[in-house]
This record gives sequence, C-alpha cells and structure tokens, in this order.
Amino acid sequence: MRRCLLPPIPEFALAADLLAEAADALLAGDRETCATRLVAADMRPLRDFHHRVAGPLSIEIHLQLRAPKFTPVPKENRPRMPNGSASMEIMKRDGFRCRFCDSRVVIKEAASVFNHFVPEAARLGSTNETRHFALGTITASIDHIVPYCRGGTNAPDNLLTACGPCQYGRNNFTLAELELTNPFDYPPIDDGWDGLTRLLGAKPKRWAVRTSESVG
Ligand SMILES: [Zn+2]
Repeated sequence: MRRCLLPPIPEFALAADLLAEAADALLAGDRETCATRLVAADMRPLRDFHHRVAGPLSIEIHLQLRAPKFTPVPKENRPRMPNGSASMEIMKRDGFRCRFCDSRVVIKEAASVFNHFVPEAARLGSTNETRHFALGTITASIDHIVPYCRGGTNAPDNLLTACGPCQYGRNNFTLAELELTNPFDYPPIDDGWDGLTRLLGAKPKRWAVRTSESVG
C-alpha cells in the first residue's frame, strides 16, 4: 500500500513558496516581484510530472494498464460536487494540502487573481501546455474517496483536498484498485498554510513599479 501514486517532486514545495511570495508581493503593490516569482514558479518539471501521473495509465504508477470496469451508479439526486462554501470547509479541514501526497496546494481563485493583475506572468491557457505549470499542478480540487460515478456522495467523510496529479491520476479508480491507503488514516498537516486564501478579495496597493500600460 502507498500514500499516493507517485511521490511529489521538490518543485511542488518550491512552487508553493514562490506563489506565496508572489501573493505577498501583489498585496504589497510590488508588481515586479510578483511577476518575477510567478515566472520562477512556472516550472516545466511540474507539467511533466502531472502528465506522467495523470496521463496514460502505466504499470509503474497505476499498477495496471486498463481503467476499471464498473457499472456507473445512477446519479439519482446526488449533486456532482459540493458548493463553494462546503468545498472551502473541506480545504480548511485539510490544511490546504493534498491529502494523498501532503503537498501544499492553492485555491483555484488564486490563478484568477494572479491572471487579473499580472496576466503576462500567470498564463491561464485552456491546455496543459499553455497554462502556468505551477497553477495547473498545485491548484486544489475536491476529490471523492469513493468516486462519484461509483456511488460516492458529497458527505464530508467522502471528500478531501487533492492536487492535480493525485486528483486526475486516480480518476475513477477506487483506493483499493490503486493500492492506496485511506488518507483519513492520517491526520491532516496543519501548519498555518492558507492555500493563498489571502488573495480572496485582493485589492493591491498602488503598484510600486509602473506597469508598461501606465507608461506613456
Ligand atoms: Zn497530491
């Protein structure tokens, strides 16, 4: 049994640190530092790792080469996902960390805020290649322990916070099928990491450095 499909590479922690610095710079009105940190966090190894885990099935990572065969459980009146406030409660409970690999993750709104204020450094393309590699990999999502299509509900004890690779790499597999231990067997790490919720409602002070748009 294992905690996650593939242990995260060091760039996960580095990206979280750089995005936190970018967030603090943005809030302080230091546009240049914000952009510099965002560009530094845009590390290709994150995209490559994400693809390796969440791309085609492999014996090495998924222990099998075929998706599980199952009969989808009817939706009936099960909502597909919890609402925004319920999702935030799950992420707070989990210390804004992926409950599989323990990596620090960031709320999805962080990407929107960065892109709004520093679009050239916070790429938000529609493909893995054109989306900022850190924001595309360590942005948090809510995962179902028992996958939705296999009957999982949105009860809090079936929901947890996941990074991109752990979420999309597991897909519709159950924990048992991938020989993963139940993340709830381990307490969440609570070290004060805020998942960049500090950016919610961000209104940066006047940029200390004049932007190219403001020049001329
Ligand atoms: Zn993870």
